[in-house]
Amino acid sequence: MTTIANNLQQVLGRIAQACQAAGRSPGAVSLLAVSKTFGPDAVVQAAAAGQQAFGENYIQEGVEKIAAVREALPGASLQWHCIGPIQSNKTRLVAEHFDWVHTVDRLKIAERLSAQRPADLPPLQVCIQVNIDGGPTKSGVAPAEALALARAVAKLPRLAVRGLMAIPDHTPELEAQLAVHTSARRLFDEIAALREPGLESFDTLSLGMTADLEAAIQAGSTMVRVGTGIFGGRSYPAA
Ligand SMILES: *Cc1c(COP(=O)(O)O)cnc(C)c1O
Repeated sequence: MTTIANNLQQVLGRIAQACQAAGRSPGAVSLLAVSKTFGPDAVVQAAAAGQQAFGENYIQEGVEKIAAVREALPGASLQWHCIGPIQSNKTRLVAEHFDWVHTVDRLKIAERLSAQRPADLPPLQVCIQVNIDGGPTKSGVAPAEALALARAVAKLPRLAVRGLMAIPDHTPELEAQLAVHTSARRLFDEIAALREPGLESFDTLSLGMTADLEAAIQAGSTMVRVGTGIFGGRSYPAA
């Protein structure tokens, strides 16, 4: 097995174990492989090992990688998730090339994504990014505003609202991780419980990375975003 295939098995093992410890079914949590900073070859190796969903932070890098991987693996049905900040001048690239976006925190960006989503593609699947621990300079809508934004985005014709995403500040203690993850879960449950028109598919809580996936799964994450654990350390830092 390649290192990537081996790492992938270990991460899937961690997810399965965390699900079991939390009394959740093993299929309750999906794995998004975060391939930012790694080349198309790394994605091809992970895809060969069975991984189908990939996350990218930097739009231009992601779009180039999507094209290269498509050429290397024609016919493969991979899913591409945008998990990085989106400037207005990048919305068209996102709308045309990605399947999911986890980082919608402004209506204006959502409106552009909807208007620019090509008619021959399925609706773009969207998570509302929430600034769950309230860092003053962080992306994400305030928790109190998440529902209003989700409702507004749900009205846009070419987007489908799928849930919430959060990136809590890193903290080494499990208890502290759990506290903040649990607040994300509560907000997610409150919105999901409304079962409003436009929010029928509100089923995704994108939460947890390499260092905190156990706490995130214990709290109720349905999708963990793992980079380092699969591809190794990144040689240039996240912007
Ligand atoms: C880089 C990144 C990840 C993956 O982080 P790791 O610690 O490498 O697992 C997950 N989510 C977002 C939003 C990221 O930017």
